[in-house]
Amino acid sequence: MNKNYGEKLLADKPSRAALWPVLTKIDGDLAVQACARGCACGGALHRADYPRKVRGINVESRRDSFCCAEEGCRRRVTPGSVRFLGRRIYAGFIVILLTAFQHGLTAARVAVLQEHLGVDRRTLERWRQWWLQEFAQGRPWRSARGRFIPPPDERTLPWSLWRSFGDDGPKPLLDLLRFLVPWTTHAAPEN
Ligand SMILES: [Zn+2]
Repeated sequence: MNKNYGEKLLADKPSRAALWPVLTKIDGDLAVQACARGCACGGALHRADYPRKVRGINVESRRDSFCCAEEGCRRRVTPGSVRFLGRRIYAGFIVILLTAFQHGLTAARVAVLQEHLGVDRRTLERWRQWWLQEFAQGRPWRSARGRFIPPPDERTLPWSLWRSFGDDGPKPLLDLLRFLVPWTTHAAPEN
């Protein structure tokens, strides 16, 4: 059961802290790739990272970001990320795991983890609705779901999606985070 690794992450601060540098490294690679692609206008990109507080992880972090160097464009390009899921102030994997466990653990256990992480009920419910509505109904998912055989049960997202990457350990979670990268770039920078 993949709940062993994921549950440990949510329950145990040192485990979360240990995962963070791994995710930071992956984000660094994504940033290098985004920079190499350049701006849509053809201009070169310059570093314009911005600070991000990350709730659930005790670190001051920086979101990789770029600005187009072209006069008259100056578009901000923020690459996809395995650390941040849009503008949410919690680390992306906390959003994913806590909502997944609403389908994989008892309500009492989820309540304990939720309290431990300082996530209030309204926030958790908002995250759940995001999976079931914006994510599940959105075009990126509609076109990506066909690559899973069998397709994950959309009523138990993101639990079902996580399970489709494997049963236990860090790898299924890392694969899931990589899969979700296209969903992480919609948000405008938040300072
Ligand atoms: Zn540009």
